[in-house]
Amino acid sequence: MRRINEAAGRAGAAIRDLQPRRGDSPFAASRPSPTRRHSVGSQRHSGYSASKEGKESPASSRPSKPTLSYHGPFAAELLPAASAAARAAYEATLSMTNDELQQLAELVAAAHCDRSTYLSTEAWQFGTTAYAIPGNEVCADCGSSEPPTWAAMVGEADAVLVCNECCGGHRALGVHLSAPLSLKMDRWSDEKRQRLLSSGNRAVNATLEAHAAAAQCKPSSEADVSAKHVFVRSKYERRAFAAEGDGELLPSTPPGRRCAGGAPQQVHAGILIVRLIRAHDLIAADFTGKSDPYVKATCGKAKSKTRVIRRTLSPEWNEVLRLNVEDVRDVLMLQVKDSDTIGSSPLGDCSLSLAELRPNHGTELSLELQNVRSGRLVAEVTWCPLDG
Ligand SMILES: [Zn+2]
Repeated sequence: MRRINEAAGRAGAAIRDLQPRRGDSPFAASRPSPTRRHSVGSQRHSGYSASKEGKESPASSRPSKPTLSYHGPFAAELLPAASAAARAAYEATLSMTNDELQQLAELVAAAHCDRSTYLSTEAWQFGTTAYAIPGNEVCADCGSSEPPTWAAMVGEADAVLVCNECCGGHRALGVHLSAPLSLKMDRWSDEKRQRLLSSGNRAVNATLEAHAAAAQCKPSSEADVSAKHVFVRSKYERRAFAAEGDGELLPSTPPGRRCAGGAPQQVHAGILIVRLIRAHDLIAADFTGKSDPYVKATCGKAKSKTRVIRRTLSPEWNEVLRLNVEDVRDVLMLQVKDSDTIGSSPLGDCSLSLAELRPNHGTELSLELQNVRSGRLVAEVTWCPLDG
């Protein structure tokens, strides 16, 4: 025990001395261990590394915890204020148990393998960093150990990571109470990033699940989706499990029917995230031999469109559209159009049904445009059903 305390003391000193520089990881001081495994920068894109060495070498002077250190490129370069929060996150790992550390390391390793499913390298860096915040490795509401990919902005300045199913409950609360953003596919403002890095599941739950009843009412990851949604509403809307709350779950409401202030609340089957990457071989709509293309995406009543790229037959939008889907039987229609001062003219269209898509996985598609002589559209489509 004395050795561990000494190690923790050394870590504290290292962290105090830590002076993050642009381009350096704010976790440049590795976990206190005489067997520091990598020099800073030696794994520029590997992020965390974990080792059980410490655990398996009781005879040596190594600490009894696995070595965990962060060396990857970090959002500090993107977000000036992140380094302090990240350092706090690192510090918090010092009090984690072996199992928690291992779980964290495995989670981050999995997220790294999953890099291609992030919107950009920047999103991936931020996403993997977010998992280092205490408690963020599991869903804040049901504890599901699937890496939570949705962040719900709750209260005045907090943010939690939640699973897909609980995210449905957050969306139903309305944006004034909770506004979910995808860690993988959404663009984040610096303010929201800072918000996530400076709160985290464990800290928020310490407040919103302070009531003793929270433990009994909290659904498991296996619980019915409607039970998760009832818990989310009770926890965030009524603050039933905060210290001053009454500890009571709201009565259950039939799925898909909920009223807020007497007005019917729109219910969603899920979110369709469409990244319009590029198109090529489009037909020319202008007499100059070019077009001013944009894409209009429609799914049921939901619609959205990209910006216009001027004077090209091979536009690159690389733009993400989000569509709130009300019915899983809806079909995604993508129409490429030419923008003109007097309206728009068609450059071809294509469609696909949600049933063709593997849920929660980005699928890159090269789609042949219909009703037109030539043209292909390249898009990545991710279907996120809110109930599974
Ligand atoms: Zn959950």
